[in-house]
Amino acid sequence: NLPKVAWIGLGIMGSPMSENLIKAGYDVTGFTLEQDKLDRLAAAGGTAATSIAAAVKDADVIVTMVPASPQVEAISYGPEGILENAKSGALIVDMSSITPQTSVDLAKNAKEKGIRVIDAPVSGGEAGAIEAVLSIMVGGEQADFDEAKPLLEALGKTIVLCGPHGSGQTVKAANQLIVAVNIQACAEAVVFLEKSGVDLTAALDVLNGGLAGSTVLTRKKDNFLNRDFKPGFRIDLHHKDMGIVTDAARNVGAALPVGAVVAQLVASLRAQGDGGLDHSALLRAVERLSGN
Ligand code: NAD
Repeated sequence: NLPKVAWIGLGIMGSPMSENLIKAGYDVTGFTLEQDKLDRLAAAGGTAATSIAAAVKDADVIVTMVPASPQVEAISYGPEGILENAKSGALIVDMSSITPQTSVDLAKNAKEKGIRVIDAPVSGGEAGAIEAVLSIMVGGEQADFDEAKPLLEALGKTIVLCGPHGSGQTVKAANQLIVAVNIQACAEAVVFLEKSGVDLTAALDVLNGGLAGSTVLTRKKDNFLNRDFKPGFRIDLHHKDMGIVTDAARNVGAALPVGAVVAQLVASLRAQGDGGLDHSALLRAVERLSGN
């Protein structure tokens, strides 16, 4: 018997992920702010709820996939929130990328209601969500991880318990640091190659075959070549994640000198009105610095 699932947050990631659960046979009731996303869930065989309370009241597992800590708090707390309306014994699987402390606090507050929580942020982007090959980094109790694992296997490929509550978020913060620095390095190489008059398609192909190759270069190659910055992963969200990793690193005394510079470039893109573009738009920041 598969657990009954509530899904809160049907955006770029939540829509295809919840559809993968439906395909795997789960009964999914969802709630999100956009009516077209609710219609999409219903068309895929799920049930569209009219509120968080209605979505979660009968659920065994509640998956949440919203932008950031303030939204996780908004959907979790208060009279209309998950903690007041879910059954005792339910398991919250928060897949949003948020501050580790928010995850720790949520787990503690939920426990008082007899509700369990794991943090389970993901990497792999929209493509990874659609193809159900996400990397899922989990923080929480072993027993709750074991219970959630079959469901997570319908969404991802690499699913790892990293430690206690908040650990999944800490690992995700490290992931975002690596991704941002990697995109920045690729963007600098692209501008350098173009100004040098080298054929960019040929250059990126051969670079990808050597030590410079990466998932970022493979996945973002067409964005770079075509200047196509439709998200994908929005600069606004990466700005949030650079804030999370910068704060968390400062708290533990880890230096992130290159990450700090890239965080500034992400912030600058956002300040220039590019927050809604894909993070591959770091290319624009480098082009502007290079006088293009
Ligand atoms: P998105 O903005 O496309 O979707 C967020 C969804 O949350 C929206 O549908 C919105 O309606 C819903 N939401 C917000 N507040 C709500 C509320 N109060 N009640 C109900 N629903 C609410 O964002 P996304 O790109 O899907 O990202 C979601 C999370 O996943 C973020 O934390 C992001 O950092 C992370 N993430 C995104 C990607 C990516 O490639 N897009 C990859 C990995 C992780």
